[in-house]
Amino acid sequence: MHTGSCLCGQINYEVDDTLEIALNCHCKFCRLAHGAEFVPVALMTAEKLRIVKGQDLLSKFEVVSTESFRCFCSYCGTRLFNHNPKANYLGLIIATLSTSESVVPLANVNMLSRNMSFQQSNGLPEFDDVPPIEELLELV
Ligand SMILES: [Zn+2]
Ligand SMILES: [Zn+2]
Repeated sequence: MHTGSCLCGQINYEVDDTLEIALNCHCKFCRLAHGAEFVPVALMTAEKLRIVKGQDLLSKFEVVSTESFRCFCSYCGTRLFNHNPKANYLGLIIATLSTSESVVPLANVNMLSRNMSFQQSNGLPEFDDVPPIEELLELV
């Protein structure tokens, strides 16, 4: 099991997942929300994450075009995960894990919408969008 928290420590969560499907997301929404060129996220089904403390501080911003929610601590602003209820999927922000160094991204995804002037290659496979989970599992 993995655990994590926001910067102020008032929201704590637990994850029952091996976090194998870890990706560096270069999409426009991640870049804007995090103020970063890409964001390492771990994909999992929604029920694998439990908020164990601070649920009342969790705020959501809906990105209408993707039918997903950016979930963050309303006190310190840390983005914890992205939730797509329709697809029942979460994208957990790896940096918020207390065990983040044990989670290694498999690939760079959403490269079509990356910042084209950002040219730092990390040698991982690159995909225009997010490929099907089966395809990503072949990289594990
Ligand atoms: Zn916080
Ligand atoms: Zn993204």
